[in-house]
Amino acid sequence: MTKPTTITIDGTAASGKSTVAALLSKKLGYLYLDTGVMYRAVTWAVLHEGVAVDNEESVSALAERLTINVTTDGPADGRPYTVLANGQDVTWAIRAKEVEAHVSRVSSYRRVRVALTTQQRHIAAAGSIIMVGRDIGTVVLPQADLKIFMRASAEERARRRYKELLGQGKPANYEEILTAIQQRDKLDEANPVSPFIPATDAIMVDTDNLTIEEVVAKLSKLCEIDHSKI
Ligand code: C5P
Repeated sequence: MTKPTTITIDGTAASGKSTVAALLSKKLGYLYLDTGVMYRAVTWAVLHEGVAVDNEESVSALAERLTINVTTDGPADGRPYTVLANGQDVTWAIRAKEVEAHVSRVSSYRRVRVALTTQQRHIAAAGSIIMVGRDIGTVVLPQADLKIFMRASAEERARRRYKELLGQGKPANYEEILTAIQQRDKLDEANPVSPFIPATDAIMVDTDNLTIEEVVAKLSKLCEIDHSKI
């Protein structure tokens, strides 16, 4: 039996896909790339350099010259990995509310997507990988061996994010989080370059009533199916 070499996990904002992918990649010994951090890093750089988010030409040029590195090195401060933008550690900065408010707009620009998609394919060429995002199964790696699409209701995702923030001792407002998630869903779904839809051959996984561990167990089982015969 052959295990899938390339696994894609797409899903909505805060669907738990990154946490699940990190655990599954550890279990399988695969490389793991969360492509959301790349779009976030570009958005962070746009804001940091004072580029107008609406200026597609300038934002695209910045994306094309920005060097993004994702590594497992870095301080032990609860981070799953370190994200560097032109060598600067932006691991926590890319989680800021201002970045979340603008990332969908930045992600809607064709040249931004081309620049990041090219890098993502290059990383995947190294071999066994779990890549997470919105368009990985449809655009970035359409030939992937196993494609997962994770869904959860906006309310459930907001509840999870709310609990997570409280657990980190950070201020949190459920209604605000829910509104932000719903807005980002709408913008991502309407992305003119890469509309956010499941691949026709993706396996849908609804996570509303599942714990992270249950989702990981479910995906592990899917990896046991003989993909060479599908
Ligand atoms: O997954 P995460 O919430 O970190 O992604 C941040 C944003 O990056 C998304 O809301 C989306 O606008 C964009 N994104 C994308 N394509 C991907 C991954 C993320 O457009 N493959």
